[in-house]
Amino acid sequence: TRVLANDATLEDDAIEASIRPQRLDDYLGQKPVREQLAIYIEAARRRQEALDHVLIFGPPGLGKTTLSHVIANELGVNVRSTSGPVLERAGDLAALLTNLERGDVLFVDEIHRLSPVVEEVLYPAMEDFQIDIMIGEGPAARSIKLDLPPFTLIGATTRAGLLTGPLRDRFGIIQRLEFYNAEELLAIVRRSARILDIECDVEGAREIARRARGTPRIANRLLRRVRDFAQVRSGGVITHEAASAAMDMLRVDAEGFDDLDRRLLRMIIENFDGGPVGVESLAAALSEDRGTLEDVVEPYLIQQGFLVRTARGRMASARAWRHLGLQPPPTASH
Ligand code: ADP
Repeated sequence: TRVLANDATLEDDAIEASIRPQRLDDYLGQKPVREQLAIYIEAARRRQEALDHVLIFGPPGLGKTTLSHVIANELGVNVRSTSGPVLERAGDLAALLTNLERGDVLFVDEIHRLSPVVEEVLYPAMEDFQIDIMIGEGPAARSIKLDLPPFTLIGATTRAGLLTGPLRDRFGIIQRLEFYNAEELLAIVRRSARILDIECDVEGAREIARRARGTPRIANRLLRRVRDFAQVRSGGVITHEAASAAMDMLRVDAEGFDDLDRRLLRMIIENFDGGPVGVESLAAALSEDRGTLEDVVEPYLIQQGFLVRTARGRMASARAWRHLGLQPPPTASH
C-alpha cells in the first residue's frame, strides 16, 4: 500500500476528530471559498432559511467533508452524513430525508456515484422539498407526496464533471477546493502539532508542508509518521533534519512524490517515449485503477507542471524528465 494512500478509511478516528477544524476560522486556506460561504451562511441565518444546496468538488483529502461539517456548525444545525454508493435503494434516501429537521444539512460524499433511481428521488427533494413514496404493492399501490422540512444538501465529489447535468443544475452554490500552498500547509501542520502536543520547530513543519502534495490529510499523516521517527532517532523534536530523513525513509521525495507518482512519470517516459499516452493504456501498464490515477495521482502532478494533459493523452513535461535525472528531449513541454 502507499505510505501516503490518500484514503479516509485509514484514519485513526480519535486523532482525526481532534484535529478536524470545527469552525470557519479554523478552516485554514481556501480563502475565496471561505469568504463566499461566510456571506451565504450569514444571509441564511438572518433570513432564518435553509442555506442553498452546496456542491463541493476537489481531489481527496482537501477538506470537503470537513467543510460540510464546518458549514453545519456555523449554521447551528445538525448534519447527517452518507455517501453515493451507500444509498442503494430509493427508500434509503427517503428514510434519511424524512428524518431531517428544519434547516439541517444532509452531506452526501461521492455524490457522483448515486444510482439513477436514487437521483430521481433527490430532484424533487432538492427543488420543492417533497418526495414521492409508494404505498402498498401490486394494483393497490399508489404514490403519495410527502413534504420535507427545508434542508441543505451538501454534495462532495472529486470532479464536478462526473455529475449528471440535472443534478449539478440543482446546486445553488458550487465551490471548488484547490491544492493548498506551502504557507497554508505550514499553518495546518503547526496547528495539528499544537493540538496533538507534538514538538515541531518551524523548519521541521515547513519541510512536512513542502512534501505534503498540497493536501491537508497527507500533511497530518506525514506529521504523525515523522513524529515516530523523531521520537526514536532525534530526542522527540521534529527538526528540519529529522523531517527530511524521515520522509526520505518513507520514500516521499523533495517534491512530495511517492512511488506511484514516480512510477507513473517513469512509465510515460520510458515505455511511451514521454507521451502522449491515453489514461487507459497508462492504467493498464501500471496495473492501477483508472479512477485512482485520474482522481488521486494526476491532479497534483498536473498542477505542479510535471504532467501535461493533451487531447491525445498525457505527456511528461521537461520538469518530469529532469526530476528523474534524465535529459528531456527538445519536444518535451516546459
Ligand atoms: P475530503 O473530504 O476532501 O477527502 P477531509 O475533509 O476528510 O477531506 O479532510 C482531510 C483532513 O484534512 C481532515 O480531517 C482535516 O483534519 C484536514 N483538513 C482538511 N481541510 C482543512 C483545512 N482547511 N484546515 C485544516 N485542516 C484541514
